[in-house]
Amino acid sequence: MADTAASTAASTVNRSVADPANSAVQRHVASLAPEELPAYVYDLVALREHATAVRAALPERVELYYAAKANPEVPLLTALRDAVDGYEVSSGGELAHVRAAVPDAPLAFGGPGKTPAEIVAAVDAGVHRWHVESEQELHRLVAVLAERPGTVVDVLLRVNLPVVTDALDAVPLAMGGRPTPFGLDPDRAEECARLLTDGGPLGRQLRLRGVHAHLASGLAAPEQLSVAEQIVTWSAELAERHGFPLTEVNVGGGMAVDYDDPAQRFDWTAFGEGLTKLLDARPGLTLRIEPGRALTAYCGWYATEVLDVKRSHGEDFAVVRGGTHHLRTPAARGHSQPFAVLPVDAWPHPWPRPAVDTDRATLAGQLCTPKDVLARSTGGAAGLRSADRVLFAMAGAYAWNISHHEFLMHPRPRFHYLGD
Ligand SMILES: *Cc1c(COP(=O)(O)O)cnc(C)c1O
Repeated sequence: MADTAASTAASTVNRSVADPANSAVQRHVASLAPEELPAYVYDLVALREHATAVRAALPERVELYYAAKANPEVPLLTALRDAVDGYEVSSGGELAHVRAAVPDAPLAFGGPGKTPAEIVAAVDAGVHRWHVESEQELHRLVAVLAERPGTVVDVLLRVNLPVVTDALDAVPLAMGGRPTPFGLDPDRAEECARLLTDGGPLGRQLRLRGVHAHLASGLAAPEQLSVAEQIVTWSAELAERHGFPLTEVNVGGGMAVDYDDPAQRFDWTAFGEGLTKLLDARPGLTLRIEPGRALTAYCGWYATEVLDVKRSHGEDFAVVRGGTHHLRTPAARGHSQPFAVLPVDAWPHPWPRPAVDTDRATLAGQLCTPKDVLARSTGGAAGLRSADRVLFAMAGAYAWNISHHEFLMHPRPRFHYLGD
């Protein structure tokens, strides 16, 4: 261990970090040399435990799929394998990648703008469920199947439904039902259902199983349940009108993750109980959910060190190795990423050690843009010194894979998977 190694014993934790900076992750980060930072550290043990608990909270007739776009790293995909029923993929790239990582896992294939080549690849890959996003996609799919007699594809119609939810302040908040490039408007879904069930050519190689809807992001359990109920009710009426058995409804992902208060977790128990009631009233129906963020956000950390501390026009800034080109989440969402500080007491240099001497500081990265801020004006940075380490929490979803890595040509972080 280098003499600049962080001391875990003395570590302090930003008050807002719920999971007091996971000691296995802290120990690992403390063992790294400064040149080995920044690093992404994933706790696969914690991930497996979390996903297993989520699965256990859900009734049997709810299938849990993981939305790979949240984080498609292979060790995470394989760590999730025993807890999930399948994976949702939204491109030909994700399809090939997830198939290779977890070869036997069922895949649901969605996404607007599927190219002809992706459609062929997905048909040949034998995806478990196909989420149809437009009428033209239906026709393209049928044309590909026409060259493969005997092949049947199970489809769900992705619908952009107007649903309302009573948010915290009891003001109904409209979700879905707005102009977007995603899915079918209800009247177009109606037309697709007709084409698939009227005895014509489209229904021959396509089996309409039900409906898919991913309408909102960041909803707590009560709102998610209300949205799920509305989707199921609408789907049952659609099936009734067109005389097909409704066997499946996929109510999407978007379960809330609270970056301002990491202790505030999505209530999977309440959600599972609500879904149980929903299913009790509808024998023969299987529900499916496809969360991304709420499964993997908590298992990833972006670890780095403070390179410099300075005061600028009355405010303190700590500049860390790396930045939002590695962890774009706070810039993309406009929040402060929660973090813990790992103090490094050794200071081998003859010059004074720069330190935050007020009660708050902004944690910025190395990029030459004022947008490169990981946490703004935060009290958790009080006392922070050059060479101290910082562990940004909740960096397991929409973090590295949504970041603009090439900007400014800094080195890439290293990746560590604990419990692999
Ligand atoms: C992104 C996405 C998800 C996952 O959303 P999270 O907010 O990460 O849970 C699920 N389904 C579809 C169709 C998506 O586009």
